[in-house]
Amino acid sequence: MEQDNIFERLLQLVTRYTHDRGQGTFIDYLDPDDLRQRLHLEDERGRGDWEALFAWVERYLAHAVKTSHPAYLNRMWAGANLPSVVGEMIAAITNTSACTFETAPVSTLMEKYLLQTMLDLVGFAGGCGQMTTGSSNANMIAMMAARNDLLPAIKQQGLFGCPELFALVNADAHYSMDRAANILGLGTNHLLKIPVDDHGRMHIPALEERLAEISSAGGRPFFVAATAGTTVRGAYDSLPPLLALRERYRFWLHVDGAWGGAVLFSDRLKRHFLPALEQADSFTLDFHKMLGTALMCNVLLFNRRPTFLREVCSAGDESYIFREGEGGEIRDLGTLSLQCGRRVDSLKWFLDWKFYGRAGLAERVERYLELCRYAEDRVGHHPDLELVVPRESFNVCFRFRPPGDVPAEPFNKALRERMHRTGRALVGTGYVNGQLVLRLLITNINVGKPEIDHFLETVVTTGRELLAERSGRP
Ligand SMILES: *Cc1c(COP(=O)(O)O)cnc(C)c1O
Repeated sequence: MEQDNIFERLLQLVTRYTHDRGQGTFIDYLDPDDLRQRLHLEDERGRGDWEALFAWVERYLAHAVKTSHPAYLNRMWAGANLPSVVGEMIAAITNTSACTFETAPVSTLMEKYLLQTMLDLVGFAGGCGQMTTGSSNANMIAMMAARNDLLPAIKQQGLFGCPELFALVNADAHYSMDRAANILGLGTNHLLKIPVDDHGRMHIPALEERLAEISSAGGRPFFVAATAGTTVRGAYDSLPPLLALRERYRFWLHVDGAWGGAVLFSDRLKRHFLPALEQADSFTLDFHKMLGTALMCNVLLFNRRPTFLREVCSAGDESYIFREGEGGEIRDLGTLSLQCGRRVDSLKWFLDWKFYGRAGLAERVERYLELCRYAEDRVGHHPDLELVVPRESFNVCFRFRPPGDVPAEPFNKALRERMHRTGRALVGTGYVNGQLVLRLLITNINVGKPEIDHFLETVVTTGRELLAERSGRP
């Protein structure tokens, strides 16, 4: 095969895959050992053999999870918006790093445009930000920014000789907070998890008590993270009481909107879920979750002067790579990043933004919420299913209700596994108040009411099948 034909061949494959991916089962499941055998990973092939290469691609696709399939309801993302897939392919073909204007002129301007657009939407006037590799890293950078903002000398002196620092988060906050506490030298013992109220939000009196305790013992509570849409339950921490506490204790208020921050695009939902967001100190949002941009695609924003992030992040001799813009303008986005090489994520977001517009994204998020309401209602009315907790926003936490003598947790685990291995459906799990739940998330534009009905029927059929096997009936 000639090199010129590679893309033709590739596009044929891609077109066929895209066409078929909503059909059949979402996976052709094999156990790891069987899959390893099927893949023939050890096969020796001659160098430069394009036929062999495409055979590998075929094998990859044959057992890939079809994340666009309507039975794939497992994670906070599903499939990807086609405009952003186009962006991803162009980024791969042009292969550059978005750290300097020199190597990525268009991407740099697109990213700056994106940051300004998002700062305006959030209401951080005169702020700054960057696209990061995802909200895990964004949470860490926010925590680092809070630390360095409070104690600017920490950049040179580290934590030696500084007051004992504490970060406080919702007990259901994402595990990236624990990792950030580890990486930043706080230690996970200095990440305090605040118990939640009936709605899964940080219990404000409990938070206040911890803040007072730390302060009176000479410690410094420097960082509080609100979660806008907790990962399992979908709870939104209420910002106004946190802002009131910030007045007293002068901590940094970060909002982790990795999942639920997407409501920003709808005025109505923003008012409902994120009132007073514009007063927070920082905010992160994943475009690659509810909004459907190809993985990974994130933005982290700061309610601080334009040079703030650069002051926090830059260190070391960068003179070999970065150039100053006119009058100290930040020309190279790499100067405010913790990485050197940076993927061109801006193009994916930019193409989605131009294709769907704000109204299109608002409509999508509002529709998802409506579908979640529908799913909750269907679960509530089915005798074999039960909600484990009421729905707070987008997450529907439910389970199959086995007869009284059958323990619910192992049963629901077995049910999920049966659905997975048979390729019927894939749904997430998590724990709420110590109870295992099936976590239904709708982030796939191909899912509507009929697909939700079908999915719930699949859960019921599979549950009944397992019960019949238990009692030895056929
Ligand atoms: C998914 C999620 C994260 C992690 O985001 P990544 O982009 O996957 O790193 C952080 N916080 C919350 C609340 C999340 O749901």
